[in-house]
Amino acid sequence: MSQAMSERKSSFATRTIHAGEQSAFADNAIFPAIYTASSFAKRGLDDQPEYAYSRVSNPTRHAYESCVAALEEGCGALACASGVAATATVLELLPKDSHVVVMSGVYGGTFRLLEDYRSRTSGLTTTYIDLNDLQAVAAAIQPNTRLIWIESPTNPLLGLVDIRPLCDLARERDILTCIDNTFCSPWNQQPITLGVDLVMHSASKYIGGHSDLTGGVVVAANQELLGRLRKIGMAVGAIQGPFDCYLALRGLKTLDVRMERQCANALKVASFLESHPQVEQVYYPGLPSHPQHELCKRQMRAGGAVVAMKIKGDRATVNRVVEQLEIFVLADSLGGVESMINHSYSMSHNSLSHEQKAAMGIGENLLRLSMGIEDHRDLIADLDRALRSAVA
Ligand SMILES: *Cc1c(COP(=O)(O)O)cnc(C)c1O
Repeated sequence: MSQAMSERKSSFATRTIHAGEQSAFADNAIFPAIYTASSFAKRGLDDQPEYAYSRVSNPTRHAYESCVAALEEGCGALACASGVAATATVLELLPKDSHVVVMSGVYGGTFRLLEDYRSRTSGLTTTYIDLNDLQAVAAAIQPNTRLIWIESPTNPLLGLVDIRPLCDLARERDILTCIDNTFCSPWNQQPITLGVDLVMHSASKYIGGHSDLTGGVVVAANQELLGRLRKIGMAVGAIQGPFDCYLALRGLKTLDVRMERQCANALKVASFLESHPQVEQVYYPGLPSHPQHELCKRQMRAGGAVVAMKIKGDRATVNRVVEQLEIFVLADSLGGVESMINHSYSMSHNSLSHEQKAAMGIGENLLRLSMGIEDHRDLIADLDRALRSAVA
């Protein structure tokens, strides 16, 4: 297939199968081989082969990177060992003593990396604010502000950031923008088309999609940033190994059908929960009751596959609910084909104080649901039974 041309014409679903440079493989293989070689032989002193040493570049990694980059409408990508390794790689772009403006309620691992490490090792300083308040963003910017770190939707309460006007503001001031697009996957939101410079994913979630891989990836909007990222990949070496690149590329092949089912399940489950007598509040951008539903419709393809709810009851009630569930797995992660449930208070946000959690709206009665690809009727029945028996 002549890729550069056909990609532009084909839809997302088709690109998940064919995009990028996946066909240049031996014996016309229709799926790239796993190249485990650390080194590639040269023919002579002047030979400059495309692949020489796998920390720098590897054919399996390249196949995966080029596919993700095409799905994100970027010009190239760097696959990293984990989501936080991808974040750390982005932070290497900044000169020491830079200031970063960060979305409030950012992923805990991003917060930890910034506050416990890069503040000490790189002199980074930070301001956490709601990035929808453009006046506050403008006021937070300092002469050394080099990066705005976006996350949308946020975890666990699913607040959105209006990406385009924020990126306009950043570009006027020559400030880089990077978004953690993990919760959306490239299926649900393509931030480069809204003006973002860098897109980061934890591939451990929707890109891998099967809860069997740890990985991260950064997609660059332009060649200049891509070149700098690749140099950091080479210099720091937090790159993804070939086996995991294979798994991630294999995951991408089914991203479209998985996300379609997962988002459809999420909408049905969220609508059901909203009318459930044991549920106090539902948070889901795909529901008209979400305060940013209009923005969701403008910016995302669907409401996403994560739903949060506050149930009527205390910690003991919540514990009975999760103990009664038969399909939803109580787990730290999200994005897999199996439905998962997470108690943010004691799990993902456990390292924060009660006061910090309260300020973020995270109480003991909050549960985050990651929708899998099961039949929605079974998911609803599972939740209904668990909620009713917890209260009875
Ligand atoms: C999981 C996650 C990360 C970190 O990714 P790892 O692969 O676990 O290192 C970053 N951001 C978000 C939103 C996540 O959910």
